Amino acid sequence: MSSLDSALIAIERACGSGSVIRDPSLLESYSHDDSEALPCMPEAVVRATSTADVSAVMKAAYAHEVPVTPRGGGTGRVGGAVPVPGGIVLAFEKMNAVEGIDKGELTTRVQPGVITGELKRVTEEENLYYPPDPNSLDSCAIGGNLAANAGGPRAFKYGVTREYVMGMDVVLADGTILKLGRETKKGVTGYDLTSLMVGSEGTLGIVTEATLRLIPKPEATVTALACFSSLDEVAPVVSSLMAQGQLPACIELLDEEAIRIVRPEAGLTIPNETKAILLIELDGEEARLEGELERMGNILFDLDALEVLVAQHSGERERLWASRRELSYSLKRQAANKLSEDVVVPRTKMADLLGYCAELGDRHSLLIPTYGHAGDGNLHVNFLWNDPDEKARVDLAIEALFRRVIELRGTLSGEHGIGILKAPYLPMEQSPALIALQEKIKDVFDPKHILNPGKIFPADAKRFHGAC
Ligand SMILES: Cc1cc2nc3c(=O)[nH]c(=O)nc-3n(C[C@H](O)[C@H](O)[C@H](O)COP(=O)(O)OP(=O)(O)OC[C@H]3O[C@@H](n4cnc5c(N)ncnc54)[C@H](O)[C@@H]3O)c2cc1C
Repeated sequence: MSSLDSALIAIERACGSGSVIRDPSLLESYSHDDSEALPCMPEAVVRATSTADVSAVMKAAYAHEVPVTPRGGGTGRVGGAVPVPGGIVLAFEKMNAVEGIDKGELTTRVQPGVITGELKRVTEEENLYYPPDPNSLDSCAIGGNLAANAGGPRAFKYGVTREYVMGMDVVLADGTILKLGRETKKGVTGYDLTSLMVGSEGTLGIVTEATLRLIPKPEATVTALACFSSLDEVAPVVSSLMAQGQLPACIELLDEEAIRIVRPEAGLTIPNETKAILLIELDGEEARLEGELERMGNILFDLDALEVLVAQHSGERERLWASRRELSYSLKRQAANKLSEDVVVPRTKMADLLGYCAELGDRHSLLIPTYGHAGDGNLHVNFLWNDPDEKARVDLAIEALFRRVIELRGTLSGEHGIGILKAPYLPMEQSPALIALQEKIKDVFDPKHILNPGKIFPADAKRFHGAC
């Protein structure tokens, strides 16, 4: 009997009959995420129903040295949930309960399979707010958000997922259950392993529950579109707004190509000469928003905005956001192939980065539409191509982009993580000593390397290159 079969028998015994899926037609949907990483079929999927189930799966996998890949909504952009060594995919769609909202403590206790948009909706019904808002919020799950430390447009004002995680239950590679963090607002006991776990891409432990911080729901929100006649004009806007005491909830950038795509879908009527748009949202006390909007409008016109349009009702606002959220898929429909990078540079270097993307497009004869979270200097730089022969040019352009980002004191990924796709580039940003230290941390948490193998570290990713 193979070690996988032995592990699956132990798992089925512990988790109940029917807990293990092996039907190939059902396994297919667990073979990929929402990235260009090649799909790899798992040999089995276990849909966990409790922390005890997860612990039983890991104990059996550890004993028989079977690889396990945790999976949330499968919306990841770097192949993080792709089971490159085969083995078991541990899925969380059945652990999807919001277990409670504590209005006194401003916290919520959730299972990892809760869809992020659903958590936002449930908390808002209680007049509370869970700010992290990845644009995939209707299909990504909290476990995946914690593993990726997801951000979103409103990270500009509210920060990313890590800022809202107080504590979590995790299962280690050998099945040990740990409670990390705390339920209190303050606390400095021991190492901050909660922070280490957030953003570790499912390579150090499996999140089975989390206590998340909530804030009061902003009373009102206004959404404005500022149109500019050139991309060069938008870069100074973020710094100017902040210097003049404005802190919008988000400042999203769309370049000319992104505007061309969004325009019909959002029903936008904007000046013809518009080459760049900033989608800006203000939130807070209703009584103060009108004054703030007027002040912001004046600043934007001083910075040569052609037009500042304000969404007149919630329907108009929702239409704008729906087309912004769809943008990635709309771009995908423009060409046979698309690779999307999510680089970040200091805000003050955004003009350099935007200029460099245009230069790259000219130099490599590629279409490179760019949009993203301008407030954070986090841009989605998209490479589109049709002919497979063009891929070599795309690879050269991506490497050049990364070099420039590092020169500008930026980072390779603001949101999506490293996964499989960015692993080869990690040494461009991190020194050999830093990578080696992280590999040692991985060894401590997962000495047999069974937890999400093939991710983050170049040597590990190379081991599974072409495995599927
Ligand atoms: C259209 C679109 C828009 C997007 N917009 C944004 C955005 O604005 N901001 C942003 O940050 N990202 C964005 N993303 C990327 C993606 O949605 C996020 O990375 C998200 O956090 C992934 O969550 P998921 O549940 O889909 O995770 P998955 O893709 O299933 O997994 C992601 C990683 O988490 C690990 N994992 C999953 N569950 C657990 C668990 N319980 N314990 C431990 N590890 C686990 C997996 O092994 C994998 O490494 C977008 C993606 C799409 C397709």
